[in-house]
Amino acid sequence: MATIDNLPSLRDVIESHGLSARKSLGQNFLLDLNLTAKIARQAGDLSGSDVLEIGPGPGGLTRGLLAEGARRVLAIEKDPRCMPALEEISAAYPGKLQVINGDALEVDPLAHLTPPIRVAANLPYNVGTELLVRWLTPKEWPPFWQSLTLMFQREVANRIVAEPGSKAYGRLALLAQWRADARIVITLPPETFTPPPKVNSAVVHLTALETPRFEADAATLNRVVATAFNQRRKMLRSSLKSISPDIEDVLNAAGIAPTERAERVSLEEFCALARQVAKL
Ligand code: SAM
Repeated sequence: MATIDNLPSLRDVIESHGLSARKSLGQNFLLDLNLTAKIARQAGDLSGSDVLEIGPGPGGLTRGLLAEGARRVLAIEKDPRCMPALEEISAAYPGKLQVINGDALEVDPLAHLTPPIRVAANLPYNVGTELLVRWLTPKEWPPFWQSLTLMFQREVANRIVAEPGSKAYGRLALLAQWRADARIVITLPPETFTPPPKVNSAVVHLTALETPRFEADAATLNRVVATAFNQRRKMLRSSLKSISPDIEDVLNAAGIAPTERAERVSLEEFCALARQVAKL
């Protein structure tokens, strides 16, 4: 397989370091370095950015990011077995790659990064959505990141870019589209990975907006949306009852019919509703 650097092929790396894939860690590796370089290019011009990568594994995407000229890469990997392979990459790119052996849900990467920061990752499926929601819901906006270029299961990617009225529309679409531009840039069949997962995958690219698309308090919007979609098929006057006993009046004040269902309410309408709820 063609290579983008002078390091051994990923197949050889996996074999020589005994990196048999572990399901519990969501390990489905990308072995095609041309593909990982292509994913890295979706992240934009990396030469002026630090890149945060979660779950580098044997280092396929890491090598793509470095070959595409990333200023620096900070990679956080939970599996200690991957450390020797990642150290070899670090040695080939002196001063460019820092690896932390730890859990991305617990490590604070900001102490190790200099803005502007881009995030790129082939995320472990078990923690991918949780990390995305964290990155989308900080107290302050703009966030620490300029862009996120992330591999998800196709079904999760669809939920991030979904439009009102579709089955996939829900909290993830609203959180992502409120404060970012989100689009699917690559879709990949299972056989792209080793071992192949059961489902298709997709890379989503999100760019942080300077300011949210519509005014709303983040915590209130998050609560309203989560409550509304908890019972997505019910009318809002019923699904949002716990928000206020006068929810019909609140919905009317926001310009939303109380008989409407969550999946047909636009982002702009949910933000108007969050503003009314914040007044209660
Ligand atoms: N980036 C590599 C690639 O594209 O071939 C590996 C991707 S694999 C889907 C996910 C990686 O995330 C694995 O290496 C796994 O060990 C790592 N991982 C799983 N849970 C993690 C966590 N909580 N924190 C950091 N890394 C984690």
